[in-house]
Amino acid sequence: MSHVVRVLETEDTFTVDSEESVLTAALRQGIPLPHDCTEGWCGTCRVKLVEGCVNYEEHPLALTPELEEEGFALACQARPQGNLVISTERPLAPCSDPERYTAEVEAVRLLGRDVVHLTLALPGADGLVYRPGQYLNVLLDDGNRRSFSMASVPNGKSVDLHIRRVRGGHFTDGQLTRLRPGDKLDVELPHGLFCCSKEDFRPLLMVATGTGLAPIKSILESLMDDPDCPPVSLYWGMRTEADLYLHDEILSWGERLCDFQYVPVLSQPSPSWTGRQGYVQEVATEDIGDFSEHAIYMCGSPNMIASARNLFVEHGANPGFIYSDAFNFQHTLAPA
Ligand SMILES: Cc1cc2nc3c(=O)[nH]c(=O)nc-3n(C[C@H](O)[C@H](O)[C@H](O)COP(=O)(O)OP(=O)(O)OC[C@H]3O[C@@H](n4cnc5c(N)ncnc54)[C@H](O)[C@@H]3O)c2cc1C
Repeated sequence: MSHVVRVLETEDTFTVDSEESVLTAALRQGIPLPHDCTEGWCGTCRVKLVEGCVNYEEHPLALTPELEEEGFALACQARPQGNLVISTERPLAPCSDPERYTAEVEAVRLLGRDVVHLTLALPGADGLVYRPGQYLNVLLDDGNRRSFSMASVPNGKSVDLHIRRVRGGHFTDGQLTRLRPGDKLDVELPHGLFCCSKEDFRPLLMVATGTGLAPIKSILESLMDDPDCPPVSLYWGMRTEADLYLHDEILSWGERLCDFQYVPVLSQPSPSWTGRQGYVQEVATEDIGDFSEHAIYMCGSPNMIASARNLFVEHGANPGFIYSDAFNFQHTLAPA
């Protein structure tokens, strides 16, 4: 049995078969609903149910009970229980279509213990526009892909990546370790919807774990020297002091951002650490208490994002101003 879905903003309609999700059906019929991880982790495909209801085979992590009560659904996991009218809720910012490039490794160096800073030159990318916060896919020889967020602002020539080495990882512990300047790498970009919504005009809370800092660095660099930049708080969660691979550089960002506060948070610090300790989302909650005025950007581990979203909403955050990018693993995904 199939159901009809209408998108409020565009008047697009499509049918959803009983064994598929709203998102799968939309994409199959050429309706471009926003999405990213397609696993229910990131929340990018959140839609508002204007009419009708849905259920889930497994409840998606990024859909809190509060969001569900407010009538939101995650299109990538939602199965309609009848005809639906949905609202995509946020206007989609225009974005370039992803293109493939043969990138050339310009520089590769270790940042801290296990993060590689990779600079890729993109010949022929003069007109390339991406939004700070977006990511690229490295296209592997076996047809699979691996996603990494741009850690730099667009310059039409090259991109910087911060890549954490995953022990035993096919790409990060394999090909990446052998890359030298001059080597070629096939990439596709830009991808993703994680980017700064300047029209929000709210204090910004940035929360990252690990290399989740990369897209946040790109976003913050794009706000530097901007007199309209709202106050920014950055909470960066890591295990130990040695993991804070960009600590000194971040300290200097205060010179170019308005009212910038940086709080590194360690979960397993050495006894001599005098800074904050614990989980990054809990420390941010202790400090800020009420998130009702903030626009919140979160990037890094899916568990942190799911837990932080719940905690921040409990403390007043408006789900409409929470943006996130979960670093899922992709070894099982088919090529785009
Ligand atoms: C949109 C997006 C943007 C991303 N941006 C970045 C980025 O900027 N920097 C970055 O370092 N990573 C980023 N990631 C995560 C990165 O894509 C994965 O870590 C990467 O695919 C690992 O590839 P691999 O071939 O080395 O590991 P695989 O061979 O795919 O995996 C090997 C094993 O390691 C485990 N594993 C893989 N990745 C992770 C992980 N991230 N955390 C914990 N365990 C893992 C899995 O259990 C897997 O079985 C991003 C992910 C997404 C979805």
